[in-house]
Amino acid sequence: AAAEAGLYTSSDLVVLLTPENVGSVLVNSTAAMVVEFYASWCGHCIAFSPVYTRLARDVKEWKPAVNLAAIDCAAEENRKICTGYKIRGYPTLKVSRCTHEAAATGGNFPRDLRGLRHRIIDKLETHKEPWPPACPPLEPTSQAEIDNFFETNNVQHLALIFEEPQSYVGREVTLDLLQFENIAVRRVLNTEEGLVAKLGVTEFPSCYLYYPGGNFTRLQVNIEARTFYSYALQRLPGVVRSGRPPPASPDTLKNRTEEPWKPFNKSRVYMADLESTLHYSLRVELAVHAVIKGVALKSLKKYISVLTKYFPGRPVVMNLLKSVNSWLQSQSADEISYVALKEILDNTAQVPNTALPEGTKWVGCQGSQPYLRRYPCGVWTLFHVLTVQAKILGGSDPQEVLSSMRSYVHNFFGCRPCAEHFENMAVESLMEVNTMSAAVLWLWSRHNRVNNRIAGSLSEDPHFPKIQWPPPDLCPACHNVMDNREHRWNKEVVLPFLLSYFNSSRILTDYLD
Ligand code: FAD
Repeated sequence: AAAEAGLYTSSDLVVLLTPENVGSVLVNSTAAMVVEFYASWCGHCIAFSPVYTRLARDVKEWKPAVNLAAIDCAAEENRKICTGYKIRGYPTLKVSRCTHEAAATGGNFPRDLRGLRHRIIDKLETHKEPWPPACPPLEPTSQAEIDNFFETNNVQHLALIFEEPQSYVGREVTLDLLQFENIAVRRVLNTEEGLVAKLGVTEFPSCYLYYPGGNFTRLQVNIEARTFYSYALQRLPGVVRSGRPPPASPDTLKNRTEEPWKPFNKSRVYMADLESTLHYSLRVELAVHAVIKGVALKSLKKYISVLTKYFPGRPVVMNLLKSVNSWLQSQSADEISYVALKEILDNTAQVPNTALPEGTKWVGCQGSQPYLRRYPCGVWTLFHVLTVQAKILGGSDPQEVLSSMRSYVHNFFGCRPCAEHFENMAVESLMEVNTMSAAVLWLWSRHNRVNNRIAGSLSEDPHFPKIQWPPPDLCPACHNVMDNREHRWNKEVVLPFLLSYFNSSRILTDYLD
């Protein structure tokens, strides 16, 4: 609880140091550790904390080699640790494998993502202590190494990033690919004349795939920059996350016996998923609450009212939502029983042409295993559709859909850690959403945060890797770079993209009864 009172939460991908874990995290770490020593009352620390959490998301893939931690020196119980490390001012940043011996950078460190990444790489390269075992070689390669590369390295792909000596792109991409197998990345300096001439390289940076026998092709990307190289390389055929089995072939999926695989278009939204989500939410998730009362009941009323207003459903489903809504709104007591709600949900005789199909039929949310994707995928999809519908139909309260999602998730969503993380994000910035467009973009960017946090986790379906969405191949113009080649979302394009992608007129009705 004390750690949560500091500037970071467990959702931030920053290890929160405490007297209990400091030994295992700092002293026994096999990765180099970046540690921020801060005081929660210090204004500069408060100003720096969003940058540090962004850095943690930005270098998440470097984790086996570099990990980020933070400690609140203002907390009484941490005092001894901070004194032990001779911390005199805040914030202080240390980068080292064994933080005891590291000279503190003190307050003298960059305050932007790019500068911080470069500083970490510099520290890795000038390290006096043993190299973190998981850290890949970062120094430039040579013609000699490349000539014998496939004799000594058992990988399918070798990516060569040609660049100028002061460029960090090659080293950043090498670290971005650290947790992926069947691929190695090396940087080649523009002064490596033999290789530059052999491949006919004229642009720096540029990336080439090099194969045994000396064949090569240029990696095609929208923009010659880190994010684009990393995204494309992580998706090459045969490249998989370390320790994860390669995705089963589409044929194996097709022949699954429990439930035949339904072919679908990966870049479309399906009504079958939305109806399945409603079924699961209303008939399964809510059913565990025998009595719904107080704030939970308010939350349910809000959820159903938002669905009634914005769900772009078939007439039979809309009729049902309307009758549930009017029944709920007429309940003046502070509690209802689930049984009573269920009666309305299933009572199709009273009002003709009213029904929510029983059971789930996942299409765009199918998982390659029965425990992957499905309902949580449906929940995200449903709420993206609702924020978009609210914007298109001219809703006037920018918080309406998001706050109903927030309270539904908080009160009912079965994945409790998910609910807690989502609530943390809502507390942080939901209040700032003040236009209908901002609501659409808020949900999109928070969903991307979740994608970033759980990329590579066991709940990731290997057929549907967690990516920063929409990827360059789905929406090239959504991606841009700043003058310094840092990736930048082009929100002026992302917004119309979302409005079109989740638009009711584009929702496919395949596989409905
Ligand atoms: P999902 O992430 O469920 O996305 C569904 C579809 O939406 C994708 O296939 C894609 O077409 C589209 N999409 C992807 N990203 C975006 C975006 N940024 N904007 C718009 N559309 C997008 N799991 C955890 O392990 N830990 C958590 O903390 C966690 N928190 C969650 C919080 C909430 C509120 C929800 C609904 C789910 C949470 N989950 C969490 C589950 C997790 O986010 C995924 O839903 C689940 O792993 C299934 O993933 P998926 O591959 O189907 O894609």
